[in-house]
Amino acid sequence: MATSDLLAPILWLLSGVILGHLIPRLPTIIMSRFSFFNPQLPPHPTPVPVDGYLLARILLMRNLRALGLFFSLIPLILGWLAIIGADSPFGVGLVLGAVWTLLSWSLPEKWGSSSWPWSRSLAEDLQQFRNQSRDENSRCCDSPELFWEVAYIRCAACLKVLDERPRPDLGRKRSDGWFMGAFRVWMLDGKSPLDYVEVKGSPSKEEE
Ligand SMILES: [Zn+2]
Repeated sequence: MATSDLLAPILWLLSGVILGHLIPRLPTIIMSRFSFFNPQLPPHPTPVPVDGYLLARILLMRNLRALGLFFSLIPLILGWLAIIGADSPFGVGLVLGAVWTLLSWSLPEKWGSSSWPWSRSLAEDLQQFRNQSRDENSRCCDSPELFWEVAYIRCAACLKVLDERPRPDLGRKRSDGWFMGAFRVWMLDGKSPLDYVEVKGSPSKEEE
């Protein structure tokens, strides 16, 4: 058997895996980045005010991820048909990529934590910070201005860090351009790059 006979199926398999991995992520990579989705959010990568628009954005990103679950049916079904009809390694790749995605989205990375970067509980936590900043007894200073920076939520008025939780991708147009930006979001899967390095050991904190 010549090497090229072996190489072609492997390349088909790999392209199937890549496509099966990419298709479910298209809603979060592409759909959220159009400018008509983003008039209220400051441009990437500046800090985002913790306000109603941010909460709505978190829920939108979560819904786009849920839409991605439906998108994963595309490589699953096409791949399955290609396997049945033609024993196609490309089909096997599509199914593998989609299954990999579904597993990585359903299994939590840490026990008890959410595997999605955006969730209802995250939106509720943000709302709680807003409530606290309005409450005279629990607010950090006289006129709190909460912003979500790359690594934490901080009051811009008194500079107090209220929560050490890296900011997930918010679907803004990336400062590193369409192609590199999309590639980065694809690889990070919506999470902050800081989620992949150990930011100060604080195991008691619930990470999203
Ligand atoms: Zn403050």
